Amino acid sequence: MKYIKNILTIDKIPLNKVAKKYGTPAYCYSFSELKNNIKQFKNNFKGINPLICFSVKSNSNRRILQEIKNFNIGADVVSKGELIKAIKSGIKPSKIVFSGVGKTYHELEFAIKKKILLINVESESELMVIEKIAKLKKKIVNVGIRLNPDTDAKTIKKISTGNIGNKFGVNEIEFLKLTKFCKSSRFLNMKCMSVHIGSQILDYRPYKKMLEVVDAVIKKSKYEFDYIDLGGGMGISYEKKNKKLNYKVYSSLIKKFLKKHKTRIIFEPGRSIIASAGILISKITYIKRSKNKVFIILDCAMNDFMRPALYGAKHEILPITKNTKKINKTLEFVGPICETTDTFSKLNNFQSIKEGDLIGIMNTGAYGMSLSSNYNVRPMPIEILIKNSKSFVILKRQKLNEIT
Ligand SMILES: *Cc1c(COP(=O)(O)O)cnc(C)c1O
Repeated sequence: MKYIKNILTIDKIPLNKVAKKYGTPAYCYSFSELKNNIKQFKNNFKGINPLICFSVKSNSNRRILQEIKNFNIGADVVSKGELIKAIKSGIKPSKIVFSGVGKTYHELEFAIKKKILLINVESESELMVIEKIAKLKKKIVNVGIRLNPDTDAKTIKKISTGNIGNKFGVNEIEFLKLTKFCKSSRFLNMKCMSVHIGSQILDYRPYKKMLEVVDAVIKKSKYEFDYIDLGGGMGISYEKKNKKLNYKVYSSLIKKFLKKHKTRIIFEPGRSIIASAGILISKITYIKRSKNKVFIILDCAMNDFMRPALYGAKHEILPITKNTKKINKTLEFVGPICETTDTFSKLNNFQSIKEGDLIGIMNTGAYGMSLSSNYNVRPMPIEILIKNSKSFVILKRQKLNEIT
């Protein structure tokens, strides 16, 4: 993604042309950025040979999943719907892990039928249901147990999952109890210890602490796990001031860990793979001046892109056509929805803009479209993939008659 002759482009395709051809709002993904992120991710963990399971909840577009699958990547799913989409995208069940605290009987039955790699169990009750189904179907089911390592991920509170106060995983005592139960069951094959401490993590220290807890609990369990699933959560730079996660340190800590434990590492990255590959293109509907700021009212809203409203997340906004005229006013980019939280960003030094101009909300490839809704009976946006300097519709824009 770069400016060519002052127009923002993906793979040499000018985004104003894309907007003109397909309309706005539009999620636009760069295949080359996706490819780069995957290469980078693999490179960061070179020498570890992890199984990478893409977190489908971050972006569940079928075509995106297909492209990711082609890099030999599996899937981390959290519902039957995601599991079906992953399988339909060609991802082999032997590379799919299923997480989540509330998998229903029906969902577990389906996952067992599909023979996926692992069901990551998050409670004793869930484990009992799995055993019951396994017994009924006379099958041996591979399970992992998700440990809550009680480590603070030091990220946004709302996306932290590894504290004992969070609903995820089981505590150490419970973990050891469930491990024992699995060992004694003829229908359960205990394959994995899993952890996932949260999302958008930029500091390696929570991961370090997590590895220490994992190491200690493995020792106490006196068990050799085929897999240790370390989850995802690797953060990206949404704002220029964000520091970067020190992958070198994280990777060397894992290498040290692997010297003590003969096991295979699983990662479940979402954001670090797809976030930076997506831009949400939007058109300015109106500009409204108030006493101390100017509202830039966009044609996209919190239903199209919810992160700012949901987490107070900050995303860079760029003009699709760049100029050199600065304006010295506070601009607030907002959506048209009747909620005060339907606001994207407040900026003090943006270029001069007018109604009808296009902007791009950056790094919206993860938790963008997958979190969108029909709130205010607004149709969900179109998704476009740009690959080899060509653009493809990978999800049609919803039509009003489909939702009215
Ligand atoms: C959401 C989630 C992930 C992905 O997190 P990212 O921050 O997108 O990498 C991985 N594993 C589990 C269990 C999750 O719930």
